[in-house]
Amino acid sequence: MTIPNETDVLVVGGGPAGALLGCLLARRGIDVVVAEKQTHLDREFRGETLAAPSVVTLRRLGFGPALSAHGYLETTAVSMRMEGRRVFSLDYGRFDVPALPTDIPQPALIKIFNDAAATLPTHTYASGAACVSLLRDGDAIRGAVLRTKDNERLEVRARLVVGADGRFSKVRKEAGIDARIHPADRDFLSFKLPRPADWGNEASLVVERNKHLVVLPTYPDFLRVGHNLPKRGMGELRKEGFDAFRAGIAAIEPRLKPLIDEHLNSWNDTGFLEIFTAEVDEWTRDGLVLIGDASHTCTPILGQGVNLAIQDTVCITPFIARALKHGTAKSPVKAAELAPFVDLRRRHKALVTRFQRRQETALAQNTHLATALRRAKFQALDRLPMKYRLFGKVLSTPHPVDPVDLGAARQEPAAV
Ligand SMILES: Cc1cc2nc3c(=O)[nH]c(=O)nc-3n(C[C@H](O)[C@H](O)[C@H](O)COP(=O)(O)OP(=O)(O)OC[C@H]3O[C@@H](n4cnc5c(N)ncnc54)[C@H](O)[C@@H]3O)c2cc1C
Repeated sequence: MTIPNETDVLVVGGGPAGALLGCLLARRGIDVVVAEKQTHLDREFRGETLAAPSVVTLRRLGFGPALSAHGYLETTAVSMRMEGRRVFSLDYGRFDVPALPTDIPQPALIKIFNDAAATLPTHTYASGAACVSLLRDGDAIRGAVLRTKDNERLEVRARLVVGADGRFSKVRKEAGIDARIHPADRDFLSFKLPRPADWGNEASLVVERNKHLVVLPTYPDFLRVGHNLPKRGMGELRKEGFDAFRAGIAAIEPRLKPLIDEHLNSWNDTGFLEIFTAEVDEWTRDGLVLIGDASHTCTPILGQGVNLAIQDTVCITPFIARALKHGTAKSPVKAAELAPFVDLRRRHKALVTRFQRRQETALAQNTHLATALRRAKFQALDRLPMKYRLFGKVLSTPHPVDPVDLGAARQEPAAV
């Protein structure tokens, strides 16, 4: 693979946001380089559940056959149990969106985007190429310096650099854009277990005072379990020992006990996840824009990260295409051209964050009174006729898809 020294758009990061953006821009005939620092698709952070609106969007963009060819698991409902009582549930089939939340491994999803893009002549995928700094011309960003997998330094000039490099974004840092980092009060320990045949496809949140488990049916035949820990609580947990940890999980969700006894053998079977949110005031500058986790890291609550990343990508594509047509052949894309994208997406992100913070506060309650009130609140919410409308604002907001992207998908069925 030869990485060109000059391109229209340099996308830094080949996660869900960067990989999809590379494909959508190349479908429009735009020269695009996607620089991904890893040489494989295994992820450090992986959201595996695609929210229903993302599934609809990906189908409309022509990725449905590739998703089906890989295989996935649809989640039918989510329920919440608190101190042993079922207090709340949502049947995903009742939302006004013609798809269910869909579980597919993130590497498979990214490969689907990359395979579709690989057939397009204006697309270059720079595997193992890490962005190490940005090129500037006055205040405008004019490209980036990449460190290739052969350890070579390469300057790539571009009219637009897209920082799609995730929660610890190097592009954001190099641009000097400050992120407000809010550590969550709790972190997460997660692990996978084989899913018994009669488990069903319902996700569940099981809460015992201020401890909770998220149990997600996962493709092809797993359960993904997440357990909250107090911030910096890992040392204390380890001191208490692995058997105590296993007993604690089984006490919260007794249905997991036989699976844990058989399959969860040491801390090596678990993964630690630091949970924080990051927000930035400035998503764009002349020659630069941030999308996905780079501009708004959210918590795993309600599994919205990939959804937001896909929505950002689908929303920004026509703005980038239009901005490239304006200006001269080599001029950087003006921040003002992308301002409407920022306005649109910032509002949706703020809604998701508000929702997540409310959930997080509810889950942190520990006293007898506060947990009793919490149960009563969720039971009342469960009976509200408008609960689907309320949760639909976050879980089933449809994505606008530009007709040009749909046209390109129709012309290239073999490529998707
Ligand atoms: C535990 C956990 C569970 C989650 N579960 C869900 C879920 O179920 N559903 C959901 O929707 N979301 C979930 N999320 C969130 C979701 O994983 C992220 O929001 C999503 O992956 C963001 O996509 P992205 O493309 O913006 O960034 P990322 O997925 O982080 O991709 C960034 C890419 O940039 C690359 N990169 C980084 N630095 C550089 C560099 N300097 N040069 C070149 N490349 C670089 C990285 O290697 C990576 O491939 C979860 C997150 C966590 C932590």
